[in-house]
Amino acid sequence: MSSKRIPHETGEAEMPLHARLHQLRLGWSRIKPGPRDLERPRLLPTEGPPAGLGDEQVGLLAELVDYLDQVTELLNSLVEQNRKLSQWNQNLAHLSNTDGLTGLYNRRHFLQLLEKEVTKARRRGSSLCLIMADLDHFKRTNDLLGHQAGDQALQQLAEWLRQGVREVDSVGRYGGEEFIMLLVDCTLPDALRVAEKLRRKVWEESFHLSLPGLEGFTVSLGVAALKGGMQPRDLIAAADRALYRAKDKGRNRVEAADE
Ligand code: GH3
Ligand code: MG
Ligand code: MG
Repeated sequence: MSSKRIPHETGEAEMPLHARLHQLRLGWSRIKPGPRDLERPRLLPTEGPPAGLGDEQVGLLAELVDYLDQVTELLNSLVEQNRKLSQWNQNLAHLSNTDGLTGLYNRRHFLQLLEKEVTKARRRGSSLCLIMADLDHFKRTNDLLGHQAGDQALQQLAEWLRQGVREVDSVGRYGGEEFIMLLVDCTLPDALRVAEKLRRKVWEESFHLSLPGLEGFTVSLGVAALKGGMQPRDLIAAADRALYRAKDKGRNRVEAADE
């Protein structure tokens, strides 16, 4: 058989068809599976030159090789686009779940997590606690120092709250200067200890902030534990009532839900 030579893409000398086919097969095997793993077509056997083929058939085969080259290129670009798309999707999911100012979970996403954790705790019979935290006299801070300094205080508080709980716990921004924390496998006395530690940290650390005028800002916290028959909204309402008792009693303090 005349070993038909076809142009090699590197522009070197022409290469024999069987070598080109072999190279192509290697090309296919280099296509990395994307997230959805594209199926790889089977290629012709590549050991030695194809035997018993006439010139016309070899010509057709050469066209097929070119065609497969193009398909390979397309597939590679599809895999790459697929990878980018899933990266964008991840970024989008992150953006839609987080609060822009503090980077904490936003209210919507936190409520979704809460639903799941309440169901899980019920099924396992494990304990679950919720803490609501609200900056004290924050309107005054804004009025005195401006909105930007207020924003910095919110960012700093978010960081302290995040540091103050375990990886398995969740922290969210519930509203303007109100934050919410979910402590899994945690009893009320333990959650009260966590809340008290946070209260103290905010008070003490805020004296060392390099934000003139923000020294000594404080936070009030309400803590509630999940009890039988409670819906997620009941747990939030219980922690909220405890928080407002903390405000009524003078602020910069922790109160437990009494129901
Ligand atoms: P209390 O101790 O009773 O909680 O008093 P407060 O002043 O903290 O509460 P109030 O609800 O009267 O005011 C909340 C303030 O929080 C008013 C609002 O301007 C401010 N605030 C809410 N969201 C933001 C924000 O994203 N950035 C800044 N800088 N301020 C915010
Ligand atoms: Mg407040
Ligand atoms: Mg508030």
